[in-house]
Amino acid sequence: LFAGAADFVAAAPSLGTLPAMDGVEIAFAGRSNVGKSSLVNALTGRNTLARTSHTPGRTQQLNFFRIGERLTLVDMPGYGYAAVGKEKVEAWTDLIHAYLKGRANLARVFMLIDSRHGLKGIDTDVLDGLDKAAVSYQIVLTKGDALKKSEIDARIAGIQAALARRPAAYPQILLTSSRDDRGVPELRAAVARLMAE
Ligand code: GDP
Repeated sequence: LFAGAADFVAAAPSLGTLPAMDGVEIAFAGRSNVGKSSLVNALTGRNTLARTSHTPGRTQQLNFFRIGERLTLVDMPGYGYAAVGKEKVEAWTDLIHAYLKGRANLARVFMLIDSRHGLKGIDTDVLDGLDKAAVSYQIVLTKGDALKKSEIDARIAGIQAALARRPAAYPQILLTSSRDDRGVPELRAAVARLMAE
């Protein structure tokens, strides 16, 4: 699935510039610095995503990457960056909501959560939006190498409990690390399963 080259399809700063719906789309979302670029690069085995996320102001767009014939990965702008003003946050929210509502070929949003920090208020806000829009999402914990086994188990149990009443949440939580590659094959398998559906 990820053997070929990834083509950059489009950067969409507004809804008018979204690429046509074609094949299966899978999106990646998370707070700035959650480890999204690193994980997507580990997933695809190449530097698919440029690390633009550390430059505020450059992050307010959706980036579409084509993988093979039928799969498009969507890099959603990182949220929660302190330096981004209220207006920018609103622009982010508007774009994301409009994208999520209208995207019939969006199979799932992988919601990246830093395993060291767990769910923050802003993550909960985003999950509320996904539940409301009935967009299927799955929690992917990042930086799993930074925690002990007992801490990982407690983190997963805590998030599982928080997800129980969320209608659009996929129940399985994936623990990953782009440092030691744990969970990356499982993430790849999840993507392959979505494409087979
Ligand atoms: P993004 O802003 O979400 O795209 O995050 P990046 O992929 O640029 O990573 C943000 C920071 O987290 C960088 O300093 C990375 O080195 C670090 N990081 C990313 N992935 C991992 C990981 O799996 N484990 C650890 N310990 N650190 C990571």
